[in-house]
Amino acid sequence: MDLISQRLQQIKGNIVAACQRSGRNPKEVQIVAVTKYVDMETTRRALDAGLVHIGESRAQEAVPKWKELGGRGVWHFIGHLQSNKAKAVAGRFTYVHSLDRYSLAKELSRRSVANGQATKCMIQVNISGEKSKHGLKPDELLEFARESAELPQLEIEGLMTMAPVTDDPEEVRPIFRHLKTLQQELQRLGDPKLSVPHLSMGMSRDYIIAVEEGATFVRLGSVLVGTQPQKA
Ligand SMILES: *Cc1c(COP(=O)(O)O)cnc(C)c1O
Repeated sequence: MDLISQRLQQIKGNIVAACQRSGRNPKEVQIVAVTKYVDMETTRRALDAGLVHIGESRAQEAVPKWKELGGRGVWHFIGHLQSNKAKAVAGRFTYVHSLDRYSLAKELSRRSVANGQATKCMIQVNISGEKSKHGLKPDELLEFARESAELPQLEIEGLMTMAPVTDDPEEVRPIFRHLKTLQQELQRLGDPKLSVPHLSMGMSRDYIIAVEEGATFVRLGSVLVGTQPQKA
């Protein structure tokens, strides 16, 4: 078995165990293979290993990969997105995980209308408040979500956050738990456009905790397709 398949098997085992601990159905959790660090060939191997969701964070590198491999898999744009790159992303990427401002929402909507293909978005929330991170403040979320959900061909599918880098993974648990409570607040509005089924949270170092706290998409790069030896 190749290395990606081996790692995938181990990661899936960890996800199933995390779901058992938290009373969740493992089918609710999907792995986005983050291929931003790796070349075309490795991205192809990830697809060959049975991974369906591919995540990229820079348009310049993502578009050539999409041109070659976009016929396979479901493509996720996970990095900070400049509005002038919305054109390159809409119509190619099914999901954008980094919706963080209304100007970008409008531009993605406009491009998605032009392509006749909706873009599914996760609203990025900066829960930790770190200056280095993009995303809305939690108290800006409700109004932003309501306004964005009205834009044509833009579907608000959920929320995304990035936890701080720490040595103690337990420090990130309250961050993920907070994103879950924000999802519940949005769902309580009862707006059919804001049923927000998805929580995109958890990366290589903290995905197990994210799954315990309700992640539906974990975004895994180094632990899954990285070139460095890893413990899953
Ligand atoms: C790079 C990246 C990841 C994956 O990072 P790993 O720690 O290698 O798993 C996940 N999410 C975003 C937004 C990223 O930019």
